[in-house]
Amino acid sequence: MSEETHERAPRGSTNEETRQRNLSLILSTVHAQGQQTRSDLTSVSGLNRSTVLALVGELVERGLVVESQPVPDGRAGRPSPVVSPSDDVLALSVNPDVEAVTFALVGLGGNVRMRESTMTPPHLAPAHVAQRAREFLERNLPELPPSTRLVGAGVAVPGLVDARDDRVVMAPNLGWSKVPLAAIIGDATGLPVTSANDASLGVLAESLFGAGRDCDNLIYLNGSTSGVGGGVISDGSLVRGVNGFGTELGHILLNRQGEQCACGRVGCLETEVNVRRIWHVLGRTVAIDELDDLYAGDASPALAAELDHQADALAAGIASLACIFAPERVVLGGHVGALLEARSDRIHAEVERLAFGPLGIGISIVRNSLRARMMPIGAAELAFAPLLRDPARTILYSVGDLIG
Ligand SMILES: [Zn+2]
Repeated sequence: MSEETHERAPRGSTNEETRQRNLSLILSTVHAQGQQTRSDLTSVSGLNRSTVLALVGELVERGLVVESQPVPDGRAGRPSPVVSPSDDVLALSVNPDVEAVTFALVGLGGNVRMRESTMTPPHLAPAHVAQRAREFLERNLPELPPSTRLVGAGVAVPGLVDARDDRVVMAPNLGWSKVPLAAIIGDATGLPVTSANDASLGVLAESLFGAGRDCDNLIYLNGSTSGVGGGVISDGSLVRGVNGFGTELGHILLNRQGEQCACGRVGCLETEVNVRRIWHVLGRTVAIDELDDLYAGDASPALAAELDHQADALAAGIASLACIFAPERVVLGGHVGALLEARSDRIHAEVERLAFGPLGIGISIVRNSLRARMMPIGAAELAFAPLLRDPARTILYSVGDLIG
């Protein structure tokens, strides 16, 4: 953000709008960058010292940040107080997926406080997800200090979510269509709820707190139990497309002689690169978190051949995407992150071989760094967004409000 946007209010705006924008800037900085000294905040924001002092004071009063005295560093002068995100402000994140649903409580600053992932029957009904969200809160909130407050819930959905009315238009692997999931979870929990596509939230989390930091041209692919989701940051912005439906990278067509996809077509990337194919080879299901141990152990010839096949298909997909987006970095999460770990040389060599000239050379292909924390953090970002935009006027819910 450029300096002049903060202190010098644009024509027609009021002092109140300027103050709101400045509070937002300070809280967003502490949220994304972690603890900051007050003098760092002064230089990052371009605001003057007394303004930052007043803004931090208001955020402390509202319980959104805490100020502490720094450890003396021996340098001359009085050390600047340290401003950190408050531990008391949490968001609920919900991620329903095929055969598993994950709930988490995430603090400002991307701090995952509690996370529960449980296997469920396939095709879990939306009402059951909402019921389990309620039970998760009832079980865990009483363990937290009474000063805890929740801002809302974010839901990461493996499917298309209409950004206009927050409905799940289509989540083929869950068998859902036209489901007002956010509203159903809102009714069950008493929280404001927002939903979005899981992979878009993954790329958001990685670009804020993980392997996508400081990168303006990023492709992200995540392998969940539902298939492969994707997200793209191009020239610093998340690519959304019409109604927010863009970047379904798991459904780029890869093999016209291939298998039927849950989306109704044949040969999508996710029919070739899919953890369920691994399950089929093994004759059992394996949680995404356990794939690394499995691949690091002695692989059967059938598993090794399947990993080679998936590595080649993934590389072909990345090579095609590189032609469109010319990424600097490709971040791989979930099942495809574990696949990268198991077949790194093969994937890198294939991407270079298959890509269009220079577009395949020198792309950094890395694993996501947030791992299991990624989806909770991404979903929580949805819930934190209104608070970060308007810290003074966003309602927070106490534990007592929610579970009586
Ligand atoms: Zn498909």
